[in-house]
Amino acid sequence: MLLILRNGIPENDIQTVMERIHWMGMRSFRSTYEGQSALGVVMEDRQLVDSEAFKLFPQVERVLAISTPYKLASRAFHPENTRVVVGDVTVGGEALAIMAGPCAVENEAQIHTIARLLKDAGVRVLRGGAYKPRTSPYSFQGLGADGLKLIREAADENGMAVVSEIISPDDLDQFSRYVDLLQVGARNMQNFNLLKALGSCGKPVLLKRSPSATYTEWLMAAEYIISAGNDRIILCERGIRSFETYTRNTLDLTAVPVMKALSHFPVMVDPSHGTGLRDKVVPMALAAVAAGADGILVEVHPQPDMAISDGFQSLTPKQFTDLMPSLARVAIAIGRQPG
Ligand code: PEP
Ligand code: MN
Repeated sequence: MLLILRNGIPENDIQTVMERIHWMGMRSFRSTYEGQSALGVVMEDRQLVDSEAFKLFPQVERVLAISTPYKLASRAFHPENTRVVVGDVTVGGEALAIMAGPCAVENEAQIHTIARLLKDAGVRVLRGGAYKPRTSPYSFQGLGADGLKLIREAADENGMAVVSEIISPDDLDQFSRYVDLLQVGARNMQNFNLLKALGSCGKPVLLKRSPSATYTEWLMAAEYIISAGNDRIILCERGIRSFETYTRNTLDLTAVPVMKALSHFPVMVDPSHGTGLRDKVVPMALAAVAAGADGILVEVHPQPDMAISDGFQSLTPKQFTDLMPSLARVAIAIGRQPG
């Protein structure tokens, strides 16, 4: 339920309403709605509270029902776009956010080489996995804590921020030290203990879509994070499972306009995992920007043929540097600023 408060009511009146809601056994979250203060009230499914109860509050002008199962993640709760700041990049503003790097941090030379190349190409957020959730237990699982340290050093040397995947709440301390944007991978989109822990981690979260998740399930995952106290969420479409086997996944670009309409969070696209094929990454990256994506997460490796993971979908440095001006042209064509 969304309580639209009377225009210009003093702060202590807002606090009074929030305390009253708390006393009633519910939680409230502040928002602004068409310039007015509003409170999103969330309650457990079993709490059947009549909206009439809130209309009796003198501080409340109107009561709106939020009909979707996700409440705080919905546009209805927060009509304005949420902007998420990562390092010196704002995701969800006019400018495109480009995050790039290898699938996994493999060694010092690899991550430093690619960081320098990407920085020269204009990238300000470096990606790289240190904890890799692999389909096979025999595949490279990542360098763990050493990988996080290496990517942090490479990013610092080049004035970049770091995005890296967290797979367990037990690793939160390390991630708080070394990582600026915590990625929830597709396989962990419904790891509810992880999502709840990220609600209080104090860092922004990149929430990837599970390959089999509906839009509603994806937003319910975001609801776990925001209802636990963290509204700095970036959604990332990375391809879904379909009957097509030619590509690794089917990149669902419809998700971009749909998620931007249903929710207030920025939406990025990962064309690398979305296609799994290096020569399809460039056209789909451009298409994602044309569809209105707020940014791109792309795998780039100094020598993709030598990569320990996902080399077949990683761009060469040359492919990536050629892509950057094309992305900028598409951004400008649709009225946005290049990253
Ligand atoms: C990744 O970005 O490294 C990754 C494993 O992606 P996904 O979770 O989308 O498969
Ligand atoms: Mn990968």
